[in-house]
Amino acid sequence: MTSPALPDYAPIPRSSLGPALNDQGYYVGRVERNLYWVTDGVYQSAFLTTRDGVVLFDAPPTIGHNLQRAIDEIAAANGVSNQVTHLVYSHHHDDHAGAASLFDRNVVRVGHEETRRLLLRDNDPARPAPEVTFADRYTLEVAGERVELAWHGPNHSPDNIFIHFPGHDTLMLIDVVNAGWVPIYNLNLSEDVPGYIQAPATALSYPWTHFICGHLGRLATRDDVAVHQAYIADIEASAREALATVDPTPFYMRYGENAWAGVKAHLDTVTDRAAAPIIAKYTGVLAAADIEIFTRTTTFAIMQSLRLDRGPSGPVHP
Ligand SMILES: [Zn+2]
Repeated sequence: MTSPALPDYAPIPRSSLGPALNDQGYYVGRVERNLYWVTDGVYQSAFLTTRDGVVLFDAPPTIGHNLQRAIDEIAAANGVSNQVTHLVYSHHHDDHAGAASLFDRNVVRVGHEETRRLLLRDNDPARPAPEVTFADRYTLEVAGERVELAWHGPNHSPDNIFIHFPGHDTLMLIDVVNAGWVPIYNLNLSEDVPGYIQAPATALSYPWTHFICGHLGRLATRDDVAVHQAYIADIEASAREALATVDPTPFYMRYGENAWAGVKAHLDTVTDRAAAPIIAKYTGVLAAADIEIFTRTTTFAIMQSLRLDRGPSGPVHP
């Protein structure tokens, strides 16, 4: 057995990394006033301490029991309750919600109505469905603290919501922008490409200074969102250019009746041509831009959305 050679990549820019983790493998920090964030370096969660208890936003299983440890640490330091009374789901995905069942049965679970539907479908005991649901907007008030939840249509997932903390100058939107890093495969595994592309502009339409993006080791800024938008806009322009300039004829001629072989050769050529300048431009700017499969699959998804969602998919037969 030979093991595959593992490639080397460009160094991660220091600015894409966050604070050091403690011995238990987490970092907890203040976002503003009584709003805190927790990270294990890859996943992020947040919580609000109030005089009546703690409101937790997402429960990633990789942070797991460190969520309560982080809450205990902050509650003890500030002399407030460490009891989690509310859990808000950003969306139904297990990697952000799979530690939900660690919290008491009496906790009030809040989420979008589609989150409830999907969690009932998935029927995973680790992720109890929210009982408090909403369609477009919901104001969560706990002990005088206000959090505005809003659904602006599907993006990364059908149920992904915007969580605004108007009293804390903060917005939480998970799995769209990765602060200082490129999205992973297929625009961060997103289901709705036009919705995913639009989401950062919607995020920027809210007033905030701090942005909790759900991944990696630090909080994001408005500049991080703008760099992400530039990366996606560059891919879109490059995909448009490649679609317009690559002549498909030779690929279909080459493969004759094997139409799918022609499709593969054509679309792979368009994708590679569109992705190459983006990989070159963003290496050293966004961490992991040189993991080519990430930018290539994101480029492929955007190129297909240009054809299928925006149109035209091709010329109309005369
Ligand atoms: Zn997700």
